[in-house]
Amino acid sequence: MGPCTVQDGLRQLKLTTYNSPNCGPRRGVAQPDMVVLHYTAMKSAAAARDTLCSPANEVSAHYLIAEDGEVMSLVPEALRAWHAGAGRWGAVADVNSHSIGIEIANDGLSPFAAPQMDALVDLLQGIKVRWDIRPERVIGHSDMAPGRKIDPGGRFDWRRLALMSHAVWPEDVAPQDTAFFAPRMRAFGYTATDDVDLLLSVFRMRFRPWATGPLDEVDAGMISDLARRFPVDVNPTST
Ligand SMILES: [Zn+2]
Repeated sequence: MGPCTVQDGLRQLKLTTYNSPNCGPRRGVAQPDMVVLHYTAMKSAAAARDTLCSPANEVSAHYLIAEDGEVMSLVPEALRAWHAGAGRWGAVADVNSHSIGIEIANDGLSPFAAPQMDALVDLLQGIKVRWDIRPERVIGHSDMAPGRKIDPGGRFDWRRLALMSHAVWPEDVAPQDTAFFAPRMRAFGYTATDDVDLLLSVFRMRFRPWATGPLDEVDAGMISDLARRFPVDVNPTST
């Protein structure tokens, strides 16, 4: 199908539709209730698109966003794309069935391009309206697969998404005893591992990428605020 534009958010989204064969019906859930963000770690968006549409690779995502802001639709939102793999968020073990996957063309080291972030915001706005997805359920691949995945990485601007209510960010942070860190990570949704060092690395990559040194009271305070305001699975959907 050729390029088209849809009035889908704050600006006009430049959307091109492709049809990846790497998808199937959602299992046990009627509709998505999460969004998982990724970066491609490939040399170009075109190369990533080819990979995500090739049957031999058995991987896909619902969307791929190029550096110039072009959004490629690869799998219809109602279907299950193959982007998350092994991992967990709260009670959800089959993240692919629960989520919409968005690949952002980026090598993992460079800043994310401004037109690309604008397009992501518009895309998330449309997804939120279509599926009623809460901001705390927009997560990174590293959040649900710690130790196995590091995308979208420390250069991704989660704070900007949170300012637009498309993700969450800690506020009113008071220092807390570090003993609270691991249980409150779990309460927020980080249920894929109990390894505190691993939890600290994925937490800081997303919420405190400038921090160094051992677990401290600020880490514990930040996650305590998030866990208090956004406890995972308080209104659980099926797993
Ligand atoms: Zn990923």
